Parts: sequence; structure tokens; C-alpha cells
Amino acid sequence: MAPKNTSAARIDPGGYAGSSPRPSQLPGGTGQPTNLNLELTDLCNIKCRMCGQADNSKVHNLQPNSFMTWEVWKASIDSLTSYPDEVSLCPHWLGEPMLHPEFDRFVRYAFEQNEGNRLFRHFKLHTNGSLLKDRSIDTLLDCANMDSMAEDTFRFIHFSVDAWTPQVYYDLKKFDYGARVYRNIIRLLERRTERGLRWPYVTNAFIVMPENQHEAGWYLDYWKRVFERLGIDFEVFYDWPSQLVDNLYFRRLHQADQAAADRLHRIVLDRLGILPLDAAGDFVEDSF
Ligand code: SF4
Repeated sequence: MAPKNTSAARIDPGGYAGSSPRPSQLPGGTGQPTNLNLELTDLCNIKCRMCGQADNSKVHNLQPNSFMTWEVWKASIDSLTSYPDEVSLCPHWLGEPMLHPEFDRFVRYAFEQNEGNRLFRHFKLHTNGSLLKDRSIDTLLDCANMDSMAEDTFRFIHFSVDAWTPQVYYDLKKFDYGARVYRNIIRLLERRTERGLRWPYVTNAFIVMPENQHEAGWYLDYWKRVFERLGIDFEVFYDWPSQLVDNLYFRRLHQADQAAADRLHRIVLDRLGILPLDAAGDFVEDSF
């Protein structure tokens, strides 16, 4: 399979920057989009081996005061009306945003206030997917497909999956949630299809590591079958998804020995048949 990152079809790496100017660019702005992370919580319910956050014991100690309050969220969202630059909003930074007990209410509020993209131009969700219940699936689908703002406002949900077998999922994340994560993502895709909706697209991310590298092909085959069963077009990327499409993202690990991580990443890409080489046989760097 050839790599699909073509410059003609590129969007912004990471899916953050705006694809069009904010409708009402205000005086005093820089003219550059702002990535705004309003962190609903810094807690997380799993312990990914590649995440610094996972080593902090406080992150797994569920305390009521570890969640953003409604007052702070509402005031933050409302204040965007006077923010001078285009905003790309993400309700997460280091924690798992769906741990927030009022996740649905918070996200709905933001979208209901965003008529004509007056507050934010884009919205993106990163999640481990383990807490994605039917109610939240419908919240996310409702918000992503509202007629009151640009149709590409909520383009992607990025799922950190990283494993195919439950055992490797457990080894990497210390919780046995692998099967649940798969079910939740498939349910989202099914529900989006049942409702005849387009947005948001799904990124199923697989960070290539020594512990999971042998599963990359199985991961690709499995999700290929899921997408085909549902009649969904998809692409395979080796860097941040650069087209508006459901996708599998085989991501390289960032670590102290970066050369080793890069080598392993390229070995796996080669095995999958998506190693991007130029005419001289050199690796084609994208936005790394
Ligand atoms: S799900 Fe995200 S925040 Fe939680 S441990 Fe994994 S990478 Fe870190």
C-alpha cells in the first residue's frame, strides 16, 4: 500500500490550524490561529508506558476537585467571543477528558454557543476511548454535525489504541480495557453510519514500540475489515493524518533514543508496505 500523504490533499498536521479565517477576525489579533487546550482534567484511568503523565501517582487518585468546574468552563467558552484570533479548541492536555463526570454537558454547551464559529473554528478530541459510552457517542455526533457552524468544525477524534491483542494492550497500559476500546470505536463508526453522518472522522493511532511492533500488521488487517464492513473509506498514515478521512495512524515513538525509535518505525512501515521513500531511496520526512 502506498503512503497517502500527498501535498495536494494536505490539511494541517495534527488537525489544529484553521482551514479558513475566522468569520469575524477581531482587531488586535496576530492573524495566526491559536491552539487552545482547556483541560477538563489532568487525571487518567490508564497508565500508558509512553506517557509521562502515567508515572504521576496523583493522576490516578480520583478526587472531586480534580475536574474543571462548570463555572470555569462556561466563562472560558464565553470569553472566546472577544478573543481576536481564530481558535482551535481541544478539551484535553495531559489527562483523559472523558473522565470528567459532565463531559457531555460541557461539550454540548461549547457547540451550542458556537453559532457561525463565533467562538472557535475547530474542535478536536484526543481520548483513550475506554470511557466512550453511547450517550457520549451521540453527543459527539450531534455536535460535529450541527448546521449552525462550518461543517468541518469538528473533524477528528484521535483514539490512542496502540495494541491489537488484549495482552499487549494490558502490557502497555496496565489496564485490561483493550476489548472495550475496540467495541467503543466500532460503535461510534456504526452509529455515525446508521445516522448517515459524516463527522467526526476517526484516527486510530498505533504508536510503534518494541512491545507492539509485531501486532502492526494484525491491527491494519483488523481495522481494514471493520472499515470495509461498514463501507467506510479509510487511509493509512505514517505521520499526522493529512486528509479528511477515517484513518489508521502508525505513529513513531518519541523517546530518549530517538534514532532507535525511528529505525523501528521505518521497519514496521516497510513491513506494512507504506514506507515512504523518494526516488533516491531516502525516507520522505513529512511534518516530523
Ligand atoms: S491515555 Fe493519554 S493521558 Fe492517559 S496515560 Fe495514556 S497517553 Fe497518558
